[in-house]
Amino acid sequence: MSIRTNILGYPRIGVNRELKKAEEAYWAGKITKKELLDAAAQIRKENWQLQKEAGIDLIPSNDFSFYDQTLDLSLSVGAIPERYNALKDDLLELYFAMAHGYQKNGIDVTAMEMTKWFDTNYHYIVPEFTKDQQFKLTYNKAASEFAEALALGIKTKPVLVGPVTYLLLGKEKEAGFNRIELIDRLLPVYIEILKELESKGAEYVQIDEPSLCTDLSPEAKDAYRKAFDAIRKATRLKIILTTYFGPLADNAALAAGLGADILHIDLVRAPEQVGSIAALLPNDISLSLGVVDGRNIWKNDFRQSLDIIEKAKEKLDSSRLLVATSCSLLHSPIDLDAETDDKTLPREVKRWLSFARQKVSEVVTLADLADGKGSYAAQKALHENKADIQDRRTSALTNNAEVQKRLEAVTPEMAKRNSPFSERIRQQHEALGLPLFPTTTIGSFPQTTEVRSWRSKFKKGELSKDEYIALLKGEIEKTIRIQEEIGLDVLVHGESERNDMVEYFGEQLSGFAFTRNGWVQSYGSRCVKPPVIYGDVSRPNAMTVDWAVYAQSLTDKPVKGMLTGPVTILQWSFVRNDQPRALTMKQIALAIRDEVTDLEKAGIKVIQIDEPAIREGLPLRKVDRDEYLDKAVEAFRISASGVKDSTQIHTHMCYSQFNDIIRHIALMDADVITIECARSQMNLLGAFAEFKYPNEIGPGVYDIHSPRVPSVQEMVELLRKASQVINPAQLWVNPDCGLKTRGWTETEASLRNMVQAAVLMRK
Ligand code: GLN
Ligand code: ZN
Repeated sequence: MSIRTNILGYPRIGVNRELKKAEEAYWAGKITKKELLDAAAQIRKENWQLQKEAGIDLIPSNDFSFYDQTLDLSLSVGAIPERYNALKDDLLELYFAMAHGYQKNGIDVTAMEMTKWFDTNYHYIVPEFTKDQQFKLTYNKAASEFAEALALGIKTKPVLVGPVTYLLLGKEKEAGFNRIELIDRLLPVYIEILKELESKGAEYVQIDEPSLCTDLSPEAKDAYRKAFDAIRKATRLKIILTTYFGPLADNAALAAGLGADILHIDLVRAPEQVGSIAALLPNDISLSLGVVDGRNIWKNDFRQSLDIIEKAKEKLDSSRLLVATSCSLLHSPIDLDAETDDKTLPREVKRWLSFARQKVSEVVTLADLADGKGSYAAQKALHENKADIQDRRTSALTNNAEVQKRLEAVTPEMAKRNSPFSERIRQQHEALGLPLFPTTTIGSFPQTTEVRSWRSKFKKGELSKDEYIALLKGEIEKTIRIQEEIGLDVLVHGESERNDMVEYFGEQLSGFAFTRNGWVQSYGSRCVKPPVIYGDVSRPNAMTVDWAVYAQSLTDKPVKGMLTGPVTILQWSFVRNDQPRALTMKQIALAIRDEVTDLEKAGIKVIQIDEPAIREGLPLRKVDRDEYLDKAVEAFRISASGVKDSTQIHTHMCYSQFNDIIRHIALMDADVITIECARSQMNLLGAFAEFKYPNEIGPGVYDIHSPRVPSVQEMVELLRKASQVINPAQLWVNPDCGLKTRGWTETEASLRNMVQAAVLMRK
């Protein structure tokens, strides 16, 4: 038997985001349920057929989801929080209610929480567990989609989130128990799902246990043994135990000993583990080699992958090997062939890329080549691949000698402000003359349909550059006047020229390319289109200075310059894989540094460098975290440290967990940090108080995610609470995040109340 091929999951949004369109139309009441179900079935069918035609042996099913695969499992096993009881008659309504809340027919229930899936930008719906949590088979989605594919003549491999990962991803909704203990109650239902798959004719099942690539407690390890022991005893299905997003490391023996039929490992994130894992495997277990990157967009380097496969072949017979994607292709855009715009994605760069559909072919070709000499077609592909890889390595587009020289010349001094904070803040107070409890906003003001229409008209050529600039200047003036009238202390220009806080900068930096259709699911029907960083990054021209200077020319109050930081730009892009990420991050840091110093030269006294993505880049394993954080902090500091002491640097992060990273947050040494706080009722300030955070802080006093106008009184309460743990002289007053998604009416009303609250606090 030759080497087989294995795809862990395929994007489910549809080539032209058909799922998004159908879902949003269904939610708006514009199409029927049947039309939605048909659209979904069509996507599944196309995905299966595409993989079948490509010659994939193990084609996934149940990788489709209307929202999220973790939520699918919650519904399947009946982990449905009580507040949805009134909606149980219609499973699809119930499902969407759990995903994004429900406000109809006199019922008003909130959504379940959503958070990032491991270290990706994909968000899953967090399972909620209670102490006496019961599970009950509610809907066997996996079995139904397996049967659907079978009816089309395709025998698939159903995919399920593994039982231990599922519990670990969840949250206890009350005290007094540990969710991992629920494994005993979950297993019988999980096994019911598997048995039904078996009886419907399934031969394999893919059980996703990415948690095996994280630090596990002894209880979690026991749960693994218990779960897989029970599963093995209960079913004859061949189990593909699937791990990804990192090395198994200290969990390798555990994973190899769980009695799966196939163990899948991620050889993109952790190529070095191939030999040791292959050596560790019991005789009856096969190894699935995840060599094709499911999370990035670069063409596979066949030579490199074949070397890895060769290492496995030294220990294991070909019949025990599979070639696979490293993880689900959910995290890749769908089809490179759809990219035909030379202006945003140069042809030479396109030649280096591979999206989900192309990755499926790569898996097939690699298996073919690894098996012997390979077919004629595979040989030809290898030959072309060598040329493409070589082209990328030596291209003038990727290499910029000047950037590299500049990088080598970075000194530790460049990551340091001239004076310590105590001296800087003295000079800043003198220069800015701000009151106690100074008020500001996070940057963006409402982006109305009108503002967005100017941008799209300008892009289409329906507005000239001058006309576009004139319209934006009008918007900036309006935004400044409103802020002055409301009485804010540090103003912003409002960011109306920006589509997205990363794309806006990427479009003006060298080394970035953009796709037209490279959408990747972020959560539910929401997709993002990350920029592609393919080459050395530099900043040919100032990016924000004109807007900031214009805004400042309109007012005597300080206007805050607004930038996105290097960590966030990196984190929200597809990053080149031919040099360490930290190096690319440093290049971006230098580009942002140039912008910061240009802003200062142009007379801007306060500059904010947003870093909302610092936390999400945190490595899955604790041992790797300090190194990541050190580099992230260094990049931020390089970008921020080119200015005089009297220039005030702000940063912003919109989340609320700081406990484990507070030391590094402090090391960033921003003069002012604004953070999310309103939803947690200032509780998260605890981390800052305990740490004795030395610099100034603006804890968000209201949640911008809702149109609700907060009262003066409630914001005063929050500020009082903050003043109890933080020295009032350190406190700023601001919303949680940018106001881009809000309307003007509620924005004005809320900010008026906020300023009023600050005034009361000063008394
Ligand atoms: N300055 C950005 C804004 O106000 C910050 C956005 C963010 O934190 N995600 O929109
Ligand atoms: Zn924010």
